[in-house]
Amino acid sequence: MDEVLNSTLLSAVRDRLDYLDALVGKADETSKSVLADTVITQMTGAWRELLAAHELDDRGRCRVCSPRRLFGRAACTVWRTAHRRLITDSAERPAAGRHHYRCRPGTF
Ligand SMILES: [Zn+2]
Repeated sequence: MDEVLNSTLLSAVRDRLDYLDALVGKADETSKSVLADTVITQMTGAWRELLAAHELDDRGRCRVCSPRRLFGRAACTVWRTAHRRLITDSAERPAAGRHHYRCRPGTF
């Protein structure tokens, strides 16, 4: 049952992202503006919830990505991805450009 639920959930999220990517690529400027009004809030909310789930402790350790039982410290991939996608890529990306997929999710 969990596998079916997880599969449905993953599929729904991926389909939504594909839909939004397609809209950004094909929509006129008015539609993009309307889309931005709703989707930006959804995306910032999603990022905040995800980052809260990966909150770093006072030693800079994420309890999800680097549990205490493991020796050493693994960098939190969520915070690294957030920094790359929201800060680094934004600085390099033209303001009105299309998405570019130089970096694929899960690769650093
Ligand atoms: Zn983490």
